[in-house]
Amino acid sequence: MSVTAQSVWNNCLEFIKDNIQPQAYKTWFEPIIAVKLSDNALSIQVPSKFFYEWLEEHYVKILKVSLTKELGETAKLVYIIKMENTYGNKQPFTEKIPSSNRTAVKSQDVDIPFNNKSPELRNPFVIPGIRNVKIESQLNPNYSFENFLEGDSNRLARSAGLAVAAKPGGTSFNPLLIFGGVGLGKTHLAHAIGVDIKDKYPEKTVLYISAEKFTQQYIDAVKKNNRNDFIHFYQIIDVLIIDDVQFLSGKAGTQDVFFHIFNHLHQSGKQVILTSDKAPVDMQDIEQRLLSRFKWGLSAELQNPDFETRVSILKNKLYRDGVEMPEDIIEYVAKNIKTNVRELEGAIISLIAQSSFNKKEITIDLARIIVEKFVKNTKREVSIDYIQKVVSDYFQMDVDTLQSKTRKRHIVQARQLAMFFAKKFTKASLASIGSQIGKRDHATVLHACKTVDNLSSTDKQFRKYVEDITKKLSI
Ligand code: ADP
Ligand code: MG
Repeated sequence: MSVTAQSVWNNCLEFIKDNIQPQAYKTWFEPIIAVKLSDNALSIQVPSKFFYEWLEEHYVKILKVSLTKELGETAKLVYIIKMENTYGNKQPFTEKIPSSNRTAVKSQDVDIPFNNKSPELRNPFVIPGIRNVKIESQLNPNYSFENFLEGDSNRLARSAGLAVAAKPGGTSFNPLLIFGGVGLGKTHLAHAIGVDIKDKYPEKTVLYISAEKFTQQYIDAVKKNNRNDFIHFYQIIDVLIIDDVQFLSGKAGTQDVFFHIFNHLHQSGKQVILTSDKAPVDMQDIEQRLLSRFKWGLSAELQNPDFETRVSILKNKLYRDGVEMPEDIIEYVAKNIKTNVRELEGAIISLIAQSSFNKKEITIDLARIIVEKFVKNTKREVSIDYIQKVVSDYFQMDVDTLQSKTRKRHIVQARQLAMFFAKKFTKASLASIGSQIGKRDHATVLHACKTVDNLSSTDKQFRKYVEDITKKLSI
């Protein structure tokens, strides 16, 4: 009788099935496909890296016993991870991974014996001597996990961050993408992970950089003909943290170079941490192949903190600053500022400043005045998505209609208004506004702004639209 991958695996499955819970068998073993058998090594295909890690963590013993029963002491098991959607890559993507407590390595067909340690990872890009160059992490030590208070709104992201910090590059959270609205703690959490890693693994090279600065560096490198040096520099980082990746929208060159850097880091088991103001599905003008990379690991959202969390954030801040404040004032501030931790902190800081500069007692009245001012002053930070929603609602159409290619006059007007307000209320560039509002170019946005200006000085009805929508956006 000839021994095939399938027959060996079927025998293993029979043994495994008898020894574990039916539900676990269904979940973790039925999806596995036996791929090939050669040199006493059985290759099995699993659907994700997470799946592989789970098997290694929970079922490695039973796998070993069953396989040894079939193939003897020299049996080896090779995992092939079939990733979803490898855009632009005709070859199926396979991944070979050594035993669980090591960094993941991806390469072509390396067999991993159960009992042997896998060979040491060699990074071909390590330029002799370059490790001696000290790379400053650019981390802010004040942004620590200790100071990042936990609540329902951030529990997933926070614990994923802790897991990554404990084992950088060694979890399935790679990349770890933290996303959420303005002022909800993305930057803080990203730093906290870096700070914790530096603390636990001082020898690791950690680098924090904003996507904006990264883009600027890249443009400079291209100008100076240093593109390769730029890439090599980033390829020797162990933990790369890029803040606000939505900034890469529409910047094809930077996306391309980041794609290469990302692949290199990921394949060498290095950790990548990203933040964004949107979920990957909502990111516009980011190349598909890059988006699919973002989805490989974990996307964890930071949501608006609930009341209790807001109170504890405030108390923590006051405690650190050594300031005492009556409970009812803290609660008043927490009750009235709900969607942005930065505003929450800002209000409490103004409150402290007001009372100490003017020697005023901190009262609810003072708190009310400051909170009102604060909420009004910072309300300007509206998003382009929000503007499109408000304008579409105002004209009773949906956002898709507003973005559509149609030339119907009232729709064109709504679209132009959305562009006008995006220019007025956000810091986004014309190009970025255009790309987010129906994929138009910067000239169209410029034209829209001029048209709205003209019409509002000549057309009374139109002026009313502008005024109404301005009010809605300013509340
Ligand atoms: P984002 O990058 O999402 O816009 P930041 O990370 O800059 O937000 O956070 C804004 C402010 O709120 C920072 O001062 C940060 O320390 C604080 N902050 C946010 N979330 C928390 C939290 N869970 N605990 C303590 N402080 C927080
Ligand atoms: Mg930030």
